[in-house]
Amino acid sequence: MLNLVLFGPPGAGKGTQAERLSKHYNLVHLSTGDILRSEKAAGTKLGMEAKAYADRGELVPDMLVIDIIASQLDNNPEAKGFIFDGFPRTTTQAESLDMMLAERKAAITMTLALEVDDEELTRRIILRGKQSGRADDQDENIVKTRINEYNLKTEPLKEYYSKQGKLYTINGIGEIDEITRSLYHVIDSYTR
Ligand code: AMP
Repeated sequence: MLNLVLFGPPGAGKGTQAERLSKHYNLVHLSTGDILRSEKAAGTKLGMEAKAYADRGELVPDMLVIDIIASQLDNNPEAKGFIFDGFPRTTTQAESLDMMLAERKAAITMTLALEVDDEELTRRIILRGKQSGRADDQDENIVKTRINEYNLKTEPLKEYYSKQGKLYTINGIGEIDEITRSLYHVIDSYTR
């Protein structure tokens, strides 16, 4: 199995790259942000529970996203692998993911961290907000909260994966195609 974590701050390009990687390597793409947005649009209990947090730019409680991932793993027993996009975002989530995969005789293969500076992130998010209409991309204060949440709760996961010898850092600034090629290169060199 090839299980990849795509890691990076909001606006680093995780969604775009995850979609490409999932097609190229035939992996199931799991984006907790996308799942929460579709639950919210469908008006489910989960969507309503997550809404208040997501609307403020705060992370939702760990159990909500851990349960989402657990059921996605169960629903895809034939998967050749997964690409986790926007999950894990806290140490508790990372530990749960390791446990959930171990229970299924699997493990994270590698974590790919896309690096983009804060100034470029804010510029990209505001641009994306204009194009997609995502409310949490259009308000500068919400964007700031999301970047703070990342720095405080998610960034420490680099250390978590680096201790496991699984962290690979990729420059997330430049042409989208060029970044995709760097990702393929790192994955192929590791798995060959
Ligand atoms: P994203 O599209 O990945 O930027 O996620 C949008 C919002 O969904 C975030 O600002 C959080 O409120 C919530 N969210 C998505 N994934 C997670 C996660 N793994 N842990 C906590 N909250 C999350």
